[in-house]
Amino acid sequence: MISIKSDREIELMKHAGYINYLTHQEVAKNIKPGISTKALNDIAHQFILAHDCKPSFLNFEGYPASICVSINDEVVHGIPSKRKIKEGDIVSVDIGVEYKGYHSDSANTYIVGKVPKEVEDLVENTKKSLYEGLSVIKDGAKISDIGSKIENFAKANHLGVVRELVGHGVGTSVHEDPNVPNYFTKDPTRLKAGMVIAVEPMLNLGSRHIYMENNDWTIKTEDGLPSAHFEHTILVTKDGYVILTKA
Ligand code: MG
Ligand code: MG
Repeated sequence: MISIKSDREIELMKHAGYINYLTHQEVAKNIKPGISTKALNDIAHQFILAHDCKPSFLNFEGYPASICVSINDEVVHGIPSKRKIKEGDIVSVDIGVEYKGYHSDSANTYIVGKVPKEVEDLVENTKKSLYEGLSVIKDGAKISDIGSKIENFAKANHLGVVRELVGHGVGTSVHEDPNVPNYFTKDPTRLKAGMVIAVEPMLNLGSRHIYMENNDWTIKTEDGLPSAHFEHTILVTKDGYVILTKA
């Protein structure tokens, strides 16, 4: 069932989104060569608690950390560890924040120092594909139009679109109905004002194919080439949308 949020719920979700945005700023300041992904996790964890919120991902379906930090060929669900960030890495950080029972979900890929032009373009184009997808959002639009936009943009830039993981509704759970794929489907479901969804393209420099690591969480590209991930939590409105995970 797809929920339509009340004005009160939207206010709580705006706050959860704003703290998510601030947490990203805090983590981003600390992403540099030599810092471990666990240290980034702890910075985010403390920051979220200090703002009277909770990290949505901790223990969600058994996930063992507060944020996901996925490096280079890791697509999503990188578990924070002693692994240190290096010059030339791309680092995807995915953060969920809960405020008074309502969630927000947002991801960003950060470039550390100098990377090859094609990797820079991958990151830039994944971000652009998110905004391409968002551009069709308004009351009455088809959810599948979001995925078509993202897929067409990715294809035009010769990037692989991950299909096994998709965007989703957000509310009292960090993952709710509906699914929001990053590719065309025949799903006739339409958006309605008051829906809140997370749109989150995961694009690969190489093929779209992925596999899961032995830790049962981390998703990596099959060909070992880098992958980027951008995500915002979005409120659908009558004429368009509002990004909740932003200043
Ligand atoms: Mg996320
Ligand atoms: Mg998500």
